[in-house]
Amino acid sequence: MNDNLTAITARLGLPDFLPGWVWLVGAGPGDPGLITAFGLHAIASADFILYDSLVDDALLRLAKPAAGQIFVGKRAGVRSCSQEDLSRLLADLAGQGHRVLRLKGGDPFVFGRGGEEAQELARAGIPFRVVPGITAGIGGLAYAGIPVTHRDTNASVIFLTGHGSDGQLPPHDWKAIAKASPTLVIYMARRHAGAIAAALIAAGRDPNEPVAVISNAARSDQQVAVTTLADLGTASESSPILSIIVIGANVRLRDELDWLVRMAPI
Ligand code: SAH
Repeated sequence: MNDNLTAITARLGLPDFLPGWVWLVGAGPGDPGLITAFGLHAIASADFILYDSLVDDALLRLAKPAAGQIFVGKRAGVRSCSQEDLSRLLADLAGQGHRVLRLKGGDPFVFGRGGEEAQELARAGIPFRVVPGITAGIGGLAYAGIPVTHRDTNASVIFLTGHGSDGQLPPHDWKAIAKASPTLVIYMARRHAGAIAAALIAAGRDPNEPVAVISNAARSDQQVAVTTLADLGTASESSPILSIIVIGANVRLRDELDWLVRMAPI
């Protein structure tokens, strides 16, 4: 399998994954089919793979049999490895001449500390390449039948996080955000969903606005709950932990476009 993969990616003329390099790669939101050709190429070539909990096992099975696979994500809310240890490990393995793949869920530069990891590598003088991935805030919505933009509903979108590094709701300017875009896509919003909804309603958003809570997006256990802004807190409490929230009229497009369920082979 690994040989077939290498043959395919070689035909695309992708650059070699050179020893001593770190590739920071996005694996997409869940479905292994959503990884890029660059991502497959990196998995097939890597000597070490440092991966997150959001990465599908099927992708890891494409690695070279001798490749070291190190889990560096969170399980049950607990980090298996501090960000500092992780950065040191990346730099050490690359320094020893290995091809080091840092495989992250979604896109490495979207709310996933990939930017910080890249900064550490840049400071340590380690050569690295960044391979973008499909972020949950776009691909996860597509799997729920919700176009992230649509001419009839929203000509803009704001991506924000509901969870700061201290665990609190970040100090967003809710008045400005409420006014600035018809659609808001909120990562890590579950814990503070009720507070987010209250802040947006206080800032002038309609309590009846449609909201979707998309959980385990693009995974076999995907669930979508459609509710209103006023009921977001309650809907979110009963949703699985891995969830992304979309607020805005584009959520209604799902009534017509929920392809995953409607087009399911019988
Ligand atoms: N870099 C990732 C985001 C990391 S932050 C990306 O680009 O997608 C982690 C947050 O992303 C989760 O708390 C959740 O809000 C969201 N997320 C990631 N994958 C998801 C999925 N499959 N389904 C729902 N939300 C997801």
